[in-house]
Amino acid sequence: MSVLVVGSVALDTVKTPFEEHADLLGGSASYAAVGSSFFSPVNMVGVVGDDFPEAHVEFFKARNINLDGLQTVPGKTFRWSGEYMLDMNVRETRSVALNVFEHFNPALPASYAETPFALLANIGPNLQNHVLDQMKRPKFIVADTMDLWINIALDELKRLLKRVDMLILNDSEARHLTKQTSLVKAGQQIQAMGPRFVAVKKGEHGCLLFGENGDFFSCCAYPLEDVHDPTGAGDTFAGGFAGYLAATNRGAVTFADLRKAVVFGSVLASYNVEQFSLERMRTLTKADIQERYEGFKLFSHFEVIED
Ligand code: AMP
Repeated sequence: MSVLVVGSVALDTVKTPFEEHADLLGGSASYAAVGSSFFSPVNMVGVVGDDFPEAHVEFFKARNINLDGLQTVPGKTFRWSGEYMLDMNVRETRSVALNVFEHFNPALPASYAETPFALLANIGPNLQNHVLDQMKRPKFIVADTMDLWINIALDELKRLLKRVDMLILNDSEARHLTKQTSLVKAGQQIQAMGPRFVAVKKGEHGCLLFGENGDFFSCCAYPLEDVHDPTGAGDTFAGGFAGYLAATNRGAVTFADLRKAVVFGSVLASYNVEQFSLERMRTLTKADIQERYEGFKLFSHFEVIED
């Protein structure tokens, strides 16, 4: 089954304590679509300017991503620049230039309207709502968000939450949205705002998944020695998550499916941070994914105590 992915397509400039690279392929939709493409066909929705390198378009095509919904308009592509501190969990945004994103009106090609899974990657909740308005109710809708929208578009975000099956956000965003210090209370409070499922990401400390009737799952993060560029880890997680779910789902989505999807999302994210931009995704294989999935199983397993 296919996944519709909407979000930003960007040219990023990223600085870490060790390296700096300019005009890299980035954006929430780029990471999410490529992450999903390892499992499922993807219908991508986004906008780029006429300066967007053809090589990036070719990369999306090579990953079998349908680009009928990727608009190219006169002007410059969205640009974002960020700097990571020595503690790579800490990032400062240096600049944002909306450019063609400013007047982006995601219009869905007719062929996308019945896509069974939807991943509303990080963009304004007004645009996420607008995409949903144009779809026949997908079987499962996952949305991602960020601090910015909690600050400047809370009402629109709350409207979105009533329409989605699942929200993915990071720990600080969950606390910010609910004003709770406890992530357990925050997860439950977000569920009360609409989504049946909530995933709270904790960076290098893994992810918490909240389900119905007290269902709960905790996934560790892969113990990586070297993180080169954390940009897009969350988007790649969401992409791997939604792609796996769409690939395996014939009937209703179960909590067991979601648990596996969280692990596959974590596997994809762990690979993505090994190189800048989406470079690691170019060489990643199904066998690599499977191998690290087994690693997660091994690291998280413990024996039952016998009397
Ligand atoms: P993450 O590291 O998961 O937070 O995602 C970083 C990516 O999000 C970068 O590639 C940026 O281009 C993109 N991004 C940054 N700010 C925004 C924004 N306000 N809306 C949409 N995408 C953004």
